[in-house]
Amino acid sequence: MKIGVLGAGQLGRMLALAGCRLGYRFRFFDTSSDAPAAQLGELHTGSWQDVQALRRFADGLDVITYEFENVSLFAAKTCSDCAPVWPPLGALEMGQDRVKEKACFRKLDIPSAVFREAHNFEELKQATLDLGFPCVIKTTTLGYDGKGQYVLRNQNDAEAAWRALAGSGVIVEQFIAFEREISVIAVRSMAGDIAFYPIAQNEHQQGILRTSRVPTVNLSESLQAKAQDYARRILEEYRYVGVMAIELFETKGELLANETAPRVHNTGHWSIDGAITSQFENHLRAITGLALGSTDLRCPTVMHNLLGEPPAMEALAAIPGAAIHLYGKSPRPGRKIGHINLLGSSVEELAEREKILNALVVKSSS
Ligand code: AMP
Repeated sequence: MKIGVLGAGQLGRMLALAGCRLGYRFRFFDTSSDAPAAQLGELHTGSWQDVQALRRFADGLDVITYEFENVSLFAAKTCSDCAPVWPPLGALEMGQDRVKEKACFRKLDIPSAVFREAHNFEELKQATLDLGFPCVIKTTTLGYDGKGQYVLRNQNDAEAAWRALAGSGVIVEQFIAFEREISVIAVRSMAGDIAFYPIAQNEHQQGILRTSRVPTVNLSESLQAKAQDYARRILEEYRYVGVMAIELFETKGELLANETAPRVHNTGHWSIDGAITSQFENHLRAITGLALGSTDLRCPTVMHNLLGEPPAMEALAAIPGAAIHLYGKSPRPGRKIGHINLLGSSVEELAEREKILNALVVKSSS
């Protein structure tokens, strides 16, 4: 079985690491030859508009997937002439555009923050009057890791943000004073079976994910069921195949959907070591027509993203219960270059181990 992946970043790399164990081979397409997945398969480079290069990439592949949601829809469609592309392109299109995503939430009766579209400064001003300050401005497309988004506290902020985002379509969203952020990683097989990973509790700083932990403590059964039900509605609406993530805000005993990602997700990286079957293996099982593997938790786990210069390998390796994942990327300030999955036999033991990791991460970034 030869699998094609659009994008050769760390998600492609981790897909291949999981897939090699299943005997699968990989071919990647990226614009850059300096790509984290390149060591693990054949790499084709070219532009996302280059039909000939895309056809050469897709030729002879059994199935194609993609590893970031801003992958060109044109490229994915071009490849779909040669081999099946999963997850379905409709879900990709929705995940790339916040207005379409909001429309999907509305259609499926999934609550999310109230918002307005703004195409010019007058509309932006009206949106801030309707929603009040603080509110959040986000580009409609191409946003990730908090990029293309600002919290607006007054009209001066609105003017500055409009200048910074000039030319982009934007939405303005009510600011949610959430108690915490959680995510559901769900997977649907070709046969239509659906499985959910335990819900992860996530901590972001400046819009960038820092940690994801499972199990999420003190999340009521009714909210867990709601979160899974929202994911199920989207998976069934799109006749989805593969892994999908939904990020949600927990606020005042309710859940509001923030965004979806039609792919393996950073808040599911803990599953490589903390679940019976990782999100990467289950994504591959789904898109190659296999039965899904168990999503059960092995033990309490927390994932810490490594941003910029990492702590010394020797020090990381000495932490009990730490699994090290480095992506082969050169460090730059704020760049995700790897993650640590920390495991403990109990929540208490995990907390003790996390203190050691936290001290190292603070030391390396000071
Ligand atoms: P996003 O790109 O939409 O995932 O946003 C990145 C992060 O910004 C989220 O994980 C939240 O921490 C924060 N954020 C996004 N939207 C809102 C909002 N409407 N209210 C408060 N915080 C938000």
